[in-house]
Amino acid sequence: MDAVGDLLLVDGAVAAVGGELGAPEGARVIDVGGKVVTPGLIDVHVHLREPGQEHKETIASGARAAAAGGFTAVVAMPNTDPVIDSPALVAFVAAQGLRAEAARVYPTGAISLGLAGERLAPIGEMIEAGAVAVTDDGHPIMDSGLMRLALEYARGFGVPVADHPEDLGLSAEGQMNEGVVSSRLGVRGKPNASEDVHIVRDLLVAEFTGGHIHLQHVSSRFGVEAIRQAKARGVHVTAEASPHHLLLTDEAVDGYRTEAKMNPPLRSDADRAAVMEGLRDGTLDVIATDHAPHHYDEKERAFDDAPNGIVGLETAVGLMLTHVVGKGVLDLPTLVERMSVQPARAFRLPGGTLTVGSPADVTVLDLDAPWTVDPASFVSLSTNTPFAGWELTGRAVTTIVGGRVVWQS
Ligand SMILES: [Zn+2]
Repeated sequence: MDAVGDLLLVDGAVAAVGGELGAPEGARVIDVGGKVVTPGLIDVHVHLREPGQEHKETIASGARAAAAGGFTAVVAMPNTDPVIDSPALVAFVAAQGLRAEAARVYPTGAISLGLAGERLAPIGEMIEAGAVAVTDDGHPIMDSGLMRLALEYARGFGVPVADHPEDLGLSAEGQMNEGVVSSRLGVRGKPNASEDVHIVRDLLVAEFTGGHIHLQHVSSRFGVEAIRQAKARGVHVTAEASPHHLLLTDEAVDGYRTEAKMNPPLRSDADRAAVMEGLRDGTLDVIATDHAPHHYDEKERAFDDAPNGIVGLETAVGLMLTHVVGKGVLDLPTLVERMSVQPARAFRLPGGTLTVGSPADVTVLDLDAPWTVDPASFVSLSTNTPFAGWELTGRAVTTIVGGRVVWQS
């Protein structure tokens, strides 16, 4: 639906949509004339750092940063300390998410106990406790047999296996993309093959088991093409594109900039263009930020010692409106599809729609608002971003979760 009209939210659900509805007695009226109302945006890949690293982010601060970025729901990765590998810990994340009263927080559970890649975590019990997917994100599953088991179990429960595709043998001691820039800087690189090998392996294992593989943060051109071919064969695969892999290359690392250090690394411009084309043609179903907060001190270390990752929740909408919609790669409805409809579908979450009866999760976008990325203004506890100073046009101005306004600029 793409039309001018009213939206009526009652008791946490969409009650009516479209046309002139008029306000019932006692209703709160928010005039969003000239702005765009969309189903709440959903980020299926965030690191909220709680428990264990609350100096970087907490579930509450992350949920508020999400709301400030226009997201009504996020899916939290389990690589915390301790690792979320039991139903009690899954329930803890869900409970902290509810207490935040900001964006919804959906927990995931680890595939393997302690992310050790050896023994399966109790997948069924974690799903009963509220996990919406299983993943060892950050720690690739090196044992193909374990990946087979994970896909078979997860399939039985109807949830995806979210997969960080990386062959650790090929990545070795790599700290950035292996290529011209890494040679020039004298930094050890991770070749594209490190990602490609696992994307192909996991597509084949998904095909063989009939399980749902969700490939995270796809960054390589061969990887995009392998997913495209697998989809054509009918493999149950969904996949992510991250704003940084859509917009940046390994040139951003020049000067040993740790703000541009991430995993998978920023790659060549040919890879970046292939990720963009994958997003355009739908090979990559969803835009996900891989929001990865780190403390200033940690990112200030020497390049080889600095941790991977950048914060993404508060820059994604502006970056995508400016550089994906603004440059004509996607039209606005398709961007909303990649940031709301498809994320909800891939992880079988409520939301991603404004049909009557669906959750009253709504994002309001101002397409014309000019702004400059200023990390000091982030709601997130961390400021590690390579986008500081970027001038953008368009941002979320109101975020509504369950009928409650959780953010208004
Ligand atoms: Zn990852």
